[in-house]
Amino acid sequence: MSKIWLSSPHMGGGEQKYVQEAFDTNWVAPLGPNVNGFEEDLEKYVKENSKVACLASGTSALHLALILAGVKSGDNVICQSMTFSASANPIKYQGAEPIFIDSEKDTWNMCPLALEAGILNSISKGSKPKAIIVVHLYGMPAKMDEILNISKKYEITLIEDAAEALGSTYKGQKCGTFGDFGVLSFNGNKIITTSGGGALVCNNQEDKNKAIFLATQARDNAPHYQHSHVGYNYRMSNITAGIGRGQMEVLDEHIGFRRVNNQFYKELFAEVEGIEVLKEPDSNYFSNHWLSSIIIDKEKTGFSREDLRFSMLEDNIESRPLWKPMHMQPVFKDCLFYGSNISEKLFEEGLCLPSGSNLTDSDRDRIKVSIHKLLKK
Ligand SMILES: *Cc1c(COP(=O)(O)O)cnc(C)c1O
Repeated sequence: MSKIWLSSPHMGGGEQKYVQEAFDTNWVAPLGPNVNGFEEDLEKYVKENSKVACLASGTSALHLALILAGVKSGDNVICQSMTFSASANPIKYQGAEPIFIDSEKDTWNMCPLALEAGILNSISKGSKPKAIIVVHLYGMPAKMDEILNISKKYEITLIEDAAEALGSTYKGQKCGTFGDFGVLSFNGNKIITTSGGGALVCNNQEDKNKAIFLATQARDNAPHYQHSHVGYNYRMSNITAGIGRGQMEVLDEHIGFRRVNNQFYKELFAEVEGIEVLKEPDSNYFSNHWLSSIIIDKEKTGFSREDLRFSMLEDNIESRPLWKPMHMQPVFKDCLFYGSNISEKLFEEGLCLPSGSNLTDSDRDRIKVSIHKLLKK
């Protein structure tokens, strides 16, 4: 039996046309019409008047967001603990110190209460954080009203890591457009992929221009190579952007497929005591359900997260534990953390299930049979 992956690339068919165009016109260089086209597609999609800069990765977008927020060596930056390490690493690139914040139970994202506690404590020690990085994990929007209010109240730059949440909305507004900066990723297993790539969502043309300037080695306006800033090679290529343009044509359809998977899991576990599927808290939240995830209370089910993972693996079905919180990672062990044990418990009990937009009915049947083997024991 072939492997069922957690989330694998799913091409729509239109991608090759744009890549072929790049070859036909010899735009096999960085920049070019596909990059402009992909940026326009994204701007139209996420928010009217937003400005998007396409970059080499989501990680480089986060790094540039921190630079544009003025984060420098010795500064503090607040970051959601329950996330992929790429959310936090760029803080270190700037020589700044991450302060990690626990999750809340409804969305598994940043807890607004712990956030405010962390800010107040930093202020009392004389070093107000320079930026807040909030994540929309697995496509689930964070509690944006509360978090936006806190960022405004304390006048701290808000960066939204929407790498997993392209197409998700909170109160009808797309994730990645609430903060001062939004970050998107088009890595291999994300909701759409360009094989690798990312984007920075800005609120104005000036920020977008600054991001592109830094992403293209910070060349001053001169006929020779003149530099007065440190630059980066972070721009997206015209070939990559061609794949992105094709993927934009199928994005909403693919979100629909991911939501079908989520519905399938909700029904599968509806009557199972001790298993909870991550779901939208109320109608203000619309998740792209990039990854459908569950938590398993082994006291009630009689089996653990790892038992289920190994059991599915025997049937050649991939699943994965939730992200291990950053405050539990060896590389960040000396960083401050505010909250209790919510993210730790999620890590202990949580599992991401196969969620690709290319799952077939027969894949879902195989998953159901595999999971039932343990449920029936
Ligand atoms: C994938 C991901 C990133 C990084 O994006 P890349 O394009 O892989 O650099 C950042 N944050 C989160 C939450 C992600 O899932």
